[in-house]
Amino acid sequence: MPEGTGGASRRASGVPAGLPTGLHTQVLQQLSEAVYVVDRERRIQYWNDAAEALTGRTAAEAMGRWCGDGLLNHVDDAGVSMCGPGRCPLALTMRDGEPRACRVQLHHRDGHLVPVRVRATVLRDLDGDVIGAVEVFSDDSEHRADRQRIDELDQTASHDALTGLGNRRYLDRQLELRLSEWRQDPTAAFGVLLLDLDRFKQVNDALGHLAGDEVLRAVAVSLRLAAPDGCDLARFGGEEFVAVVPCDDVTDLEAVGEQMRAMVASIRMERFGRDEPVTVSGGGTLVRSDDVPLSLLARADSMLLQAKWRGRDRVVVQP
Ligand code: GH3
Ligand code: MG
Ligand code: MG
Repeated sequence: MPEGTGGASRRASGVPAGLPTGLHTQVLQQLSEAVYVVDRERRIQYWNDAAEALTGRTAAEAMGRWCGDGLLNHVDDAGVSMCGPGRCPLALTMRDGEPRACRVQLHHRDGHLVPVRVRATVLRDLDGDVIGAVEVFSDDSEHRADRQRIDELDQTASHDALTGLGNRRYLDRQLELRLSEWRQDPTAAFGVLLLDLDRFKQVNDALGHLAGDEVLRAVAVSLRLAAPDGCDLARFGGEEFVAVVPCDDVTDLEAVGEQMRAMVASIRMERFGRDEPVTVSGGGTLVRSDDVPLSLLARADSMLLQAKWRGRDRVVVQP
């Protein structure tokens, strides 16, 4: 079988002993994975057909070029170039001799990005001296699409469609997680606030269920705005919400609850022709050594009942 364009021009430019020639290049051309080889200066010495198909760059275009001069311009998931100092997998592999694998994007000749799985391995001559490196890369689009589908399913399974907050399943998982973190690290204490809209049945009766749903969405926005860093929010049931707040002090937990109460009370419903504010009552408690998720929620619920009995639109936190 004829040798690729790459092989011919490479020989003409004087290839260091050990880089692929003749029979080797014929074998490499058969691979469905894209392969290119660089010398110690990272100049491309070999480029197979699969590399051509995946990148849109012919061997004639690639051969002899420095891999970092914008030919492929690998970028990571944040869009940052991998060609900078200390980031090129080929350069790093040639420096320490360790093979590397990563998932990156490369620039196709047409300008679009192609997600690829990359493996870089060092090449040595018979004396063991590094003479270059080989990069094997393959299309990663399907894996990316699968991962995206899994992320979307995970999001759907753990989040409430109406408000975008976590759902009950998410809350249970977070509470288990926080409890086990706290058992290992006593500084990771936390509190739970259970918030329930006041007389929400009346809101629904007066405005209709769809407007009621809009109010629930507005409440979720208010809660997000009032939530401190590291606070998890979930829609616990119909018009009940839970905030898991990192804190070890009843006064701090009360302050967060009060902030949430005030932020909800600032929702305006004039466009529905209703003057009364939306109000919420809240009950809160701090984690204790014998707690499980249910015991935490039960204590918060009994504090919530007290807030309702005492006239609603208030937060009661267990000392
Ligand atoms: P209280 O102050 O004692 O909490 O009174 P309340 O009317 O809020 O309490 P109750 O539990 O009796 O009623 C809750 C209402 O929340 C009943 C139901 O109409 C409404 N609700 C529950 N889920 C939804 C929902 O997804 N959308 C809408 N619009 N309303 C809901
Ligand atoms: Mg309720
Ligand atoms: Mg209610």
